[in-house]
Amino acid sequence: MQTKYYEPTFVIGGRLPKGADLLESLSDICIKQEVTVGTVMVIGAVNRAVFSYYDQATKSYIDHPPIEEGMEIVSATGNISLKNGVPFVHMHVIYSGADGKCVGGHLISGARVFSCEYFITLMKGLRLERVFDEETGLHLWKE
Ligand code: ZN
Repeated sequence: MQTKYYEPTFVIGGRLPKGADLLESLSDICIKQEVTVGTVMVIGAVNRAVFSYYDQATKSYIDHPPIEEGMEIVSATGNISLKNGVPFVHMHVIYSGADGKCVGGHLISGARVFSCEYFITLMKGLRLERVFDEETGLHLWKE
């Protein structure tokens, strides 16, 4: 595995509107801002929480049933690279409910924002391109 070096160059920050789709909104921002390499940090709340789990045995994502109630986004972090030449946001999320218990996994489309604050850090360095990896069944960064 070759280590690559990146230099943070710029940070975009903001708030997503109530009702927005968490992942789709962040993806739209990255495409619009032409972010090819970067990181994403999010905190906030949703009133519809979704996520999935990657089953390594079957090499497929299993979507958890949506949680249709107010949940905190305790933390959601991710990265931005290129997939098929287009900025692609890969995020993982931890939600907590009224009981303080956490659930989480791979963020998928469909999480509905109640409030959300984000920072996207753009980085300078070698481009990261996702390609299909036969061994894991995932689109991983090309060596
Ligand atoms: Zn993931």
